[in-house]
Amino acid sequence: MKMSRLFVETKREFPNDAEAVSHKLLVRAGFIKKLTNGIYTYMPLAKRVLSKISDIVREEMNKSGAQELLMPFVQPAEVWQKSGRWQVYGKELLRCKDRHDNDMCLAPTHEEVITSVVSDTVHSYKDLPLNVYQIATKFRDEIRARFGLLRGREFIMKDAYSFHTSQEDLEREYKVMAQTYTNIFKRCGLETKVVQSDSGAIGGAVSHEYMVLTDTAVGENDVFYCEHCDYSANSNHAISILPEEITDGAKYGYTKEEIVDTPNTKTIEELAKFLKVNANCILKAVAYIYDSKPAIVMIRGDKEVEETKLMNALNALEIRPMEDSEVRDLLGFEPGFISYKNVDTNKVKVLFDNTTKGMKNFVVGGVGSDKHLVGANLEENIKDFVDISLVKEGEYCPICHKPLKVTRGIEVGNIFQLGTKYSAPMNACYTDEQGQLKPFIMGCYGIGVSRTMAAAIEKYHDEFGIIWPMAIAPYQVDIVPVNIDDEMQSKTAYEIYEELTKQGIEVIIDDRIDRAGVKFKDSELIGFPIRITVGKTISEGLVEYKTRLTGDMVKLSVKDAINKAIEDVKKSS
Ligand code: ATP
Ligand code: MG
Repeated sequence: MKMSRLFVETKREFPNDAEAVSHKLLVRAGFIKKLTNGIYTYMPLAKRVLSKISDIVREEMNKSGAQELLMPFVQPAEVWQKSGRWQVYGKELLRCKDRHDNDMCLAPTHEEVITSVVSDTVHSYKDLPLNVYQIATKFRDEIRARFGLLRGREFIMKDAYSFHTSQEDLEREYKVMAQTYTNIFKRCGLETKVVQSDSGAIGGAVSHEYMVLTDTAVGENDVFYCEHCDYSANSNHAISILPEEITDGAKYGYTKEEIVDTPNTKTIEELAKFLKVNANCILKAVAYIYDSKPAIVMIRGDKEVEETKLMNALNALEIRPMEDSEVRDLLGFEPGFISYKNVDTNKVKVLFDNTTKGMKNFVVGGVGSDKHLVGANLEENIKDFVDISLVKEGEYCPICHKPLKVTRGIEVGNIFQLGTKYSAPMNACYTDEQGQLKPFIMGCYGIGVSRTMAAAIEKYHDEFGIIWPMAIAPYQVDIVPVNIDDEMQSKTAYEIYEELTKQGIEVIIDDRIDRAGVKFKDSELIGFPIRITVGKTISEGLVEYKTRLTGDMVKLSVKDAINKAIEDVKKSS
């Protein structure tokens, strides 16, 4: 491909609405064009990368025995009503009506459709197991579409769905998929960490995420992991052992329950300072609205609430912290002095986090403005504790008790054991060996194809631009004749171009009548893995061979440069 013909426009400046490196670089290097918030056109360079990632996904999925199909993007409400998700899926599901006033939606995922397709097609245990997948566009009206392709509203996903007659067989396939995912990301040049995760709106009991860990990670995921054992989990699922399991206010002289004045102590810090206690001796209350109802969460003073865990514990679709006015109106407390005490539990849901178990002689609110109760203990009837706290770095690994570390990650893939979550309500059954109808036992497996492209950039870039891993580079080699008007330079550049193309290598020749500096800048910005520069030294028979990743530059004969390019491409794709 001639650079002069390539449908691309590189920009000098970064876009000003971009925070993430991958977003900035994808726009500046001409890979994507924004149509509207979270919706982009993939320009030819991006399309090539997406096709390469898709090809790798396809090859590995096929190798694992899965079969590709393609399902509708626009779907009728009926299938969603059958599974029960029409009512519970939040605003991410974009709903609309067709001309006959039928409720329709744009596919955010395809569990419903595939379950109905398989239910219509597979009747006997003899036709199971089955694993089918597609690579297709999804639409989710994300509340915070941002970071370019990392969290788009329209994006490309590979989604696979497997159907089984037993939990054991599902677990077998789950392992096959886990290995397939590791292979896929490795072939894309990405190392991934597999972490335990929350199942979210998709549901099911067991699920794992494939995370690309990066220094720049703008991914919204914190991953807690242990360096001494295999434990690693998304923060929405991570658990830990606290350094100080039991906290006792007696340490600070609070052994007897009494109300004390604590003026101007709205925050835990102010209160701890005023009473000269450690925050872990304070029983903190946090007020939330969940699905329009009030809730109070009790948690140890030095800990924070993990909102995904809380959402699960409340079985809620939406949660948000209470406004001050709501605290006054719904709870009757002054903000900063809330507690489970003196609350009508018929009207307000109260939850106790695991970290409150075993607290003794603590400090707690709920006894009026500018007052706290000290030396308090939980009533004996409080027995139900849930895990709704956010793990902190340095707390101990739940498996081997060594300190946990934290890092940021981008979730590129996700695997779930769904069980009968969809097949049961949708009445999707097969006939077993005894002639009985049984619901399919299902698994589902997603990969964010467009997100993977962005994650690769988050991982591989420098101040000059993108550094594509060879396997997913839009073109592998960029040939730059320094002066296209110089006959020898031009002729040699085209010879190299022809030869490499003949060898099946994807090559750009920068035939533009432009300064060499401009061509070099674009080459680095776009991120071609190899650059061959044909300049003045061609009079001595030499060209310059530059490897984008290492920055290494060597002078080689034309023949050697061609051979090295072939070798480098083969070696790392
Ligand atoms: P997230 O927690 O990031 O919203 P998810 O759990 O909703 O992801 P899944 O429903 O499991 O995601 O979708 C499978 C894969 O699709 C994810 O692992 C991710 O790589 C990708 N994906 C999900 N949402 C988006 C999005 N808004 N933009 C780009 N890729 C996405
Ligand atoms: Mg999501």
